[in-house]
Amino acid sequence: MQDSLSYIRNKLFKWYRINGRDFPWRHTKAPYRIMIAEFMLHRTKAEQVAPVYKEFIKKYPDVKSLASVELNEIIKVTEHLGLHWRAQHFITSANYIVEKYNGNIPANPEDILKIPGVGDYIAGAIMVVCFNKIYPVVDSNIARLLNRFFNLDLEGEVRRKKKIVGLSEQLFSSHKKAELLFALIDFCSLICKPIRPICFKCLLFKRCMYKNKNKRQTDNYTPSAP
Ligand code: SF4
Repeated sequence: MQDSLSYIRNKLFKWYRINGRDFPWRHTKAPYRIMIAEFMLHRTKAEQVAPVYKEFIKKYPDVKSLASVELNEIIKVTEHLGLHWRAQHFITSANYIVEKYNGNIPANPEDILKIPGVGDYIAGAIMVVCFNKIYPVVDSNIARLLNRFFNLDLEGEVRRKKKIVGLSEQLFSSHKKAELLFALIDFCSLICKPIRPICFKCLLFKRCMYKNKNKRQTDNYTPSAP
């Protein structure tokens, strides 16, 4: 298992160096900025989020600057993302962090998870990107990749399955955790897609067990691919 996880990591790092996407939140390790980016990215395309995120951070560069803002002001900045129902998250979370931690997001998952609006995935992203700590970061995309690669045949809410969470935790025992997360996000979005994964372009092709069982579901399947 460790050998396979190390194989995935190494291939993904190689792939990411050439194909990785560049977004403004990938140039920071500030927990506040990662939290804001993740609030915005929930069910919204990264390309759409990028300009809004930039404007938001320019106006509200830290937790304290956000805590005192009126809801209407937030809605004005985020309206292009259709985030009205989430706008309150920004203020409520900022107020909580100011009151409880004087504006500094704590470095442990138990406390991060208590911040209003912060779920397991956001807590994980903060832990690996900002604090370089091992944490099982799993969303439906990462879960899909692991489920396919190891041919686990898990169904339902795969990202919550014990096996997937355990694999993710081991996967993130890497010295480049943030880069690994970004590589996974891009790879799952561009190659190991939910429908019709592009297996013939996939660097994990040789060892991935999914394709062997699902040849007809892969585009241009070819045994000689890398
Ligand atoms: S070979 Fe296909 S199913 Fe397997 S990881 Fe690559 S894209 Fe996903």
